[in-house]
Order: sequence, then C-alpha cells, then structure tokens
Amino acid sequence: MVPGARLVVLGKQGAGKGTQCVRLSHHYVVPHVSTGDMLRAAVKQGTPLGRKAKVQMDRGELLGDDLIMEMVADRLGESDVRARGFVLDGCPRTVHQAEQLAELLSPIDLDLAVDIEVPTSQVLRRLAARRVCTDCGANYSVSSPPLINWTCDVCGGEVVQRKDDTEEAISRRLELYERQTAPLIEWYRTRQQLESVTGTGSPDTVTRRIVKVIEERRDRKSGRPV
Ligand code: AMP
Repeated sequence: MVPGARLVVLGKQGAGKGTQCVRLSHHYVVPHVSTGDMLRAAVKQGTPLGRKAKVQMDRGELLGDDLIMEMVADRLGESDVRARGFVLDGCPRTVHQAEQLAELLSPIDLDLAVDIEVPTSQVLRRLAARRVCTDCGANYSVSSPPLINWTCDVCGGEVVQRKDDTEEAISRRLELYERQTAPLIEWYRTRQQLESVTGTGSPDTVTRRIVKVIEERRDRKSGRPV
C-alpha cells in the first residue's frame, strides 16, 4: 500500500506550487487541500465567505488568519484527510497560521514543509502567462493552452486569466510574500521540518526532486540507510 503523507508546500506565487501539489496528491494518494481553490469556489458559489473574500482576493491581499484557519480546520477534520493525510497548498501564509496549524495537527505533526525555490524574474514571467480553469483549477499557460479553445482538458470548464494575475496584484502578492510568508521558511527550518527544492526545470524534474527529499527524510526517520 502507498503510505499517505502530511505535507505543506511553500513557494512564491508562480513557483509551481499548484502543479506540484496536484502531482504529490496523486503520488501519495492524499487530498490536495488548496485554500486558494476553496476560496475561489466560495466566491463562485456566492457564499457569505465568498462575498467576504472576493474584494481582498482580487486585490491580492491576504485574508484574516482566523477565517482561513477555521476553513482549514474544517477541511482537515474530514475523513479522507484523517485516513491518508494531505498536501496543503497556500496555507500557512503567516507565522501565526503556521502556529495555529501545528496546534491543529497535534499530536501528529507534519512530515515535511517543502519550499519550491524559483527566482522572482522567472515567477513574474510564469504568472503573466498563467491561465486557470474556473471550475477545477487546472493550470495552463499561454504557451501550453488546453487542446480546444480555452476549454479545460480535465473538466470542460472555461480557462481564463486569474483576476489577481494582473501586474499590480502580482507585485502586491510578491511583496506580501517577502514580508509575511518568507519568515515561515525560517520558522520551519528552525523546527527542522523544512526541505528546499529548486523549482526550475520541467514539472517532472521538480516532482522527482520533491519526492526524493520526502523519501530521504522518511528513510532517515525510520533509520533506513539513504
Ligand atoms: P492562492 O491561489 O493560494 O494564490 O490564493 C489566492 C488568494 O486567496 C490569495 O491572494 C489570498 O487573497 C487568499 N488566500 C489563500 N490562502 C490564504 C491564506 N492562507 N491566508 C490568507 N489569504 C489566503
């Protein structure tokens, strides 16, 4: 049987987090828990949460820690997560969220937080070219569009540019990342829960690098020779 996993994936917007999280969730057969996707679904359905979130999301601002962690606590309490684990994408975004997450997960901690490192110049290029499915969140780009007419290959939904992938919102999100999210990397490092992985190269190459650090970490924990 494939063992489950309890993973957090960190990285700047456009580092390929979403793509790698989907791949990791298939590899370890665990749910992909994306706070961004959950919020976009709430906006689309017009729920009270979605109405509250929309303006800040469109501007590229972070939502309040309590609102996010309540949503994450609900999701992590569901049976699929409890049975197999999770790949958490887009959360934590602040040290406060990381502290709340550690509390939520106690007594079984994370396996690992993986930081995908990509230079800012490359991230800016990727974000400007990124297109996403409004239904299932699948990622495309101007250079690798869906097969037919901006219709999602996976679910048939409409593929568009995200409202927060404008130049202005992108620079706000990257600035926020440096200020609020980058300290998380240090937070996980001091707890010896962090591995950094180079995010440049093909998606396959990056997935192989991530799986390798996860497996090496597991082998070290179990005392097997690496
Ligand atoms: P993402 O798809 O992860 O880039 O998230 C899209 C937007 O959702 C962000 O720009 C924030 O407005 C909001 N969001 C997602 N996750 C979080 C989080 N953990 N904390 C605060 N805001 C979040």
